[in-house]
Amino acid sequence: MIHVLTPEIYNRIAAGEVIDRPYSVVKELVENAVDAGAKSVTVEIEGGGKKLVRVTDDGAGISEEDLPRAYLPHATSKLEKAEDLFTVQTLGFRGEAIASIASVSRMKICSKTAGGEAHSLACEGGAVGKVLPEGGADGTVVTVEDLFYNTPARLKFLKSDGQEEGDVTAMMARFLMSRPEISFTYLTNGKVKYRSFGDGLESAIAAVYGADTLANCHKISADKHGIKVYGYIGSRNFYKPNRTYGSLFVNGRYVVNQTVGAAMTNAYSAYLMKRQYPFYVLFLDVPPEIVDVNVHPNKADVRFADNQIIYGSVYSVVSAVLDGNSRALEYLAENEKSGMGYGKPVSTFRKTENVPERPAPVMTYEEAKKELKFDVSPLAGHSPVSREFFAPNTMEVHAPAAKPAEDAFEENRKFLREREEKAKQEKLDPKDLVYKGELFRTYLIYEAGDCAYLIDQHAAHERLIYDRLRAKMEARAVVSQPMLMPYVLTVNAQEFSFLEKQFPVLREIGFDVEEFGGTSVKVSAVPADLMGMDLAAFFGEVLSSMESLRAIRLADLLKDKLASAACKAAVKGGEFLSEEEAKSLIERMDGDVGLKCPHGRPVAVRVKRTELEKLFKRIV
Ligand code: ADP
Ligand code: MG
Repeated sequence: MIHVLTPEIYNRIAAGEVIDRPYSVVKELVENAVDAGAKSVTVEIEGGGKKLVRVTDDGAGISEEDLPRAYLPHATSKLEKAEDLFTVQTLGFRGEAIASIASVSRMKICSKTAGGEAHSLACEGGAVGKVLPEGGADGTVVTVEDLFYNTPARLKFLKSDGQEEGDVTAMMARFLMSRPEISFTYLTNGKVKYRSFGDGLESAIAAVYGADTLANCHKISADKHGIKVYGYIGSRNFYKPNRTYGSLFVNGRYVVNQTVGAAMTNAYSAYLMKRQYPFYVLFLDVPPEIVDVNVHPNKADVRFADNQIIYGSVYSVVSAVLDGNSRALEYLAENEKSGMGYGKPVSTFRKTENVPERPAPVMTYEEAKKELKFDVSPLAGHSPVSREFFAPNTMEVHAPAAKPAEDAFEENRKFLREREEKAKQEKLDPKDLVYKGELFRTYLIYEAGDCAYLIDQHAAHERLIYDRLRAKMEARAVVSQPMLMPYVLTVNAQEFSFLEKQFPVLREIGFDVEEFGGTSVKVSAVPADLMGMDLAAFFGEVLSSMESLRAIRLADLLKDKLASAACKAAVKGGEFLSEEEAKSLIERMDGDVGLKCPHGRPVAVRVKRTELEKLFKRIV
């Protein structure tokens, strides 16, 4: 039953989110569908949501007599008495969303309860029409057209269709991941963008980021000081170009939080370079009393009672997994044997009563709070003390659960385990690697203990000159080297206008470029470190990724991209590397012979002494 809240109750509720963008419309409507217990939700938008937002669900529906009340301000079925405010479980309860959206759009709700008949009621700019009979399945279809058509001032403040759509899409991604038990279909301009099947987190993440992302992730599930830390975190070689690939859900809600952000950044700091950001879909389940989710109704921020414990829990679990800590591997093996935690949908971890049995945590939240006297400053960076102290002895690492129909997940799991073990073995101290020469001007040979390592010079060299160029760029010490013969490139008009826009950045990194009549570009100097580079290859690379480069706005990032394309073009097969360069190369690689080049080829190959001895039949 929908009823209007009395002013006494209403005035005790903090104001809700303002409907100011298509994004907020979609959010409210999807939350209503979730509140109605929908198992399947379809979201369609057109024109970035300005032209159309339609949300279809198979939830409880709205009865014929309730339909007009749904449009009334402060009308809700989710709250009755003031006391309910403390126990309310639904996402909405203020009873404002439909009334506010209806006043600034052409809105129509069509709904059917189980056992009832379908009816619809439209409302244009706040003027409610008549209830009409309709056909239709159980559930509700809410259509919002021409948002802000009657409030031009607000319309003017909207971003472009593409940007509004982007914001809706980002939010839908979070809905898919925070509600993996619901099957979502999300379409923009008639095209399916996301489809999830309501069968768990792995599946939802695959729907958002693609299945291969899972193959680059560790599935973690840990209990730390009474805090559950679970989800998927990118492995150490897996990075993203910006922060938007880190999602945090606290007690099932998407939030942004600095403490957790710092813990993640620091855990990855040993593996990621500048401007490389981790991928993670991380869930924290914390005792409700230690988290304040209502810091700001418009911002998805949370405040924790004790940041140190949150920081310590996240940091210790994530860094142990990334470091390939032996205990983490043992746990994985244990879990393999007992099969614990597999085959269960991840979403069940969210409900305490369904948590599979696992070893009791060494410390509860309360105990941890009492005992943690040392300083784990959230922004202090790598702290060996905290790593020691938060030994991950209650942690479990799960690879993606096996699915009967999809052997791919089983394969992923095996792959992750093997790679983890391999990476553990293959990290060497650069000092132990002795340079022994090169082969075919392609492979560098190093010796360490009982093994020889062959390193692909091309991939490694590319990295080396890139680092050198970056360092010079950072110090603003790039030296341009004029060419004897200027290089002239003729392109089409579109390409030219794109290249012309990149002139300032190209000049900053050491290229001397200028317009050369028509749609031609003249290059008369290159960065000294890239002398002899293949300019045709470089511009070919730049133009072939024109679309993605165009999307990059930050000059710094673009500089990076152009520099790395340039370095690629500078390394030719068969180039000779001096012994000194070869040595500095392995130092820069930090002895990590498990490294892969960006295309996934291995940078290094190991040959064991015993393998050679077998070849010579010294041993059998
Ligand atoms: P609130 O969600 O805060 O209650 P809304 O304005 O969003 O306020 O919705 C008003 C009421 O309309 C809800 O309380 C609910 O009873 C009903 N309602 C809205 N959307 C749906 C839906 N998709 N399915 C079932 N009921 C709905
Ligand atoms: Mg609502």
